[in-house]
Amino acid sequence: MTAIQLTGVEKIYKGKVHALRGVDLEVHPGEVFGLLGPNGAGKSTLVKILMTVIRPTRVAGTVLGKPVGDRHTLSRIGYLPEHHRFPPYLKGRQVLEFFAAMSGVSKKDRKKRSEELLEVVGMSDWGKKKVGGYSKGMRQRIGIAQALMNDPELVLLDEPTDGVDPVGRREIRGILARMKDEGRAVFLNSHLLSELEMVCDRVAIMVTGRVLRQGTIQELTEGKRGYAIAGLHPLGDEDVSAARDALAGLELRTEPGQITVLTDDPARVQPAIDALRSRGVVLSSVRPMRPTLEDLFMETVSSDESHGKPGAARGKAATR
Ligand code: ADP
Repeated sequence: MTAIQLTGVEKIYKGKVHALRGVDLEVHPGEVFGLLGPNGAGKSTLVKILMTVIRPTRVAGTVLGKPVGDRHTLSRIGYLPEHHRFPPYLKGRQVLEFFAAMSGVSKKDRKKRSEELLEVVGMSDWGKKKVGGYSKGMRQRIGIAQALMNDPELVLLDEPTDGVDPVGRREIRGILARMKDEGRAVFLNSHLLSELEMVCDRVAIMVTGRVLRQGTIQELTEGKRGYAIAGLHPLGDEDVSAARDALAGLELRTEPGQITVLTDDPARVQPAIDALRSRGVVLSSVRPMRPTLEDLFMETVSSDESHGKPGAARGKAATR
């Protein structure tokens, strides 16, 4: 059973804002899946459709094996909405006890379950303090704890690390890893590319209401990985030609100070190293290279724009 399987999801707000234009997407059980896209791409709209908060214009697919929109399935899903707010006068553990009650946890177990989850998110010492005095990272951690209250099989997190400082982000990454170890599927929305790169098994890149690419980072960088060879001094044109001649047709990219040979096989790079060394070039490094998620993302956004599609992405940085 896939955790989420969607085909052709569309959402037109108020008959005119075409927020989703046929989204196809698959999230496997037990994986951390990242949906990334610039602001306005439609990420929250998609999550709200999965949570039955808003009605799709068109949808086909399943969540935990049931049709999208099935309300009974919600009891098996945890949800952290974007920009959530808890009453500032409540203490962290009161917030959790409230969510425990809403999730149907029996009265006698609410306190225990809340304490357990405070522990999971590293907030045991703060449970007796009021939410109003929490940092953004602490509020997010309480938000994640409430999303785990019903022991969900699937957790949907809308921008879990937005506005959280680096230490808090690292702690949240640890919590996500634990969710995965516990066998939960995790779906998270983010515009923080480096963040997603660190935690996700698979990612989808969404631009103006469509998923343009999805897969593991390994799959998305297929044919784009290579080895960068850098010289102690800038490589001259003749050095580059000698390396190219030695490479038997492998693709080569040149940048100031280094050349990159596009192959996964280090053995095939050696002739270029030999050719450079025989010309007296002093090499300072030979490193495996692969495009970052940011590179893939920028490439996807710009190829979308060059096809003349209206770009919600245009002018909005992916790394707000
Ligand atoms: P993201 O989460 O990727 O930032 P959203 O799903 O919030 O994107 O928004 C996608 C598009 O839908 C945007 O153009 C946004 O302005 C529009 N939109 C979102 N919510 C509404 C709404 N309630 N009414 C009209 N348009 C909306």
